[in-house]
Amino acid sequence: VHLSTGDMLREAVRKGTPLGKKAEGFMAKGELVPDELIVGLIEAKVSDGELSHGFVLDGFPRTIPQAESLKQMLTGHEMQLDRAVLFMVSDEEVVRRLSGRWHCPVCQTGYNYPSQMPNVAGKCDKDNAVLQRRPDDDENVVRNRLGVYKRQTAPIVDYYRKESILSEIPGEGHPDTVYQALLKAVDLR
Ligand code: AMP
Repeated sequence: VHLSTGDMLREAVRKGTPLGKKAEGFMAKGELVPDELIVGLIEAKVSDGELSHGFVLDGFPRTIPQAESLKQMLTGHEMQLDRAVLFMVSDEEVVRRLSGRWHCPVCQTGYNYPSQMPNVAGKCDKDNAVLQRRPDDDENVVRNRLGVYKRQTAPIVDYYRKESILSEIPGEGHPDTVYQALLKAVDLR
């Protein structure tokens, strides 16, 4: 099971749920949504047994209190984290990748300018739909997200290093090389 808190929040915003309404302003500025709103999302998945055959958490935890809550809820259900994976990428490369990121709203295919351009500018190769960008991939917001990462998220790297489950992977090589390193880190190769 792949759980992305960012995807869950974007869906809540799209549907206009109470959570979406609370989260929207934080997301637009590239700030973190308060811990208590996020932890509840994951807790619901842990409690209903959806994760009992294995899971990948993407974009969670992002703060020390989230990491501590996660540990507590997993322990309570006799589960644990096997690995935490850190993809090492420079700030400038993060800005380049995110500010060049586009996707098809119909089939979700991803594109990146200039490395993975569509055949026709602004249109999906598969279904010709008009490509979209995440509003928080605007360069100014990405730079704020990097600052937020350093202040609030980077401390969890040490947290998982101390737990001896951290794998650090160079994230700037060819996608196939990064993927192989990831498989090795999670023992799937
Ligand atoms: P992402 O798709 O992971 O880049 O997340 C997009 C945005 O959703 C972030 O910039 C935050 O505003 C919010 N968000 C996603 N996951 C979390 C989290 N674990 N804690 C707080 N905010 C989050």
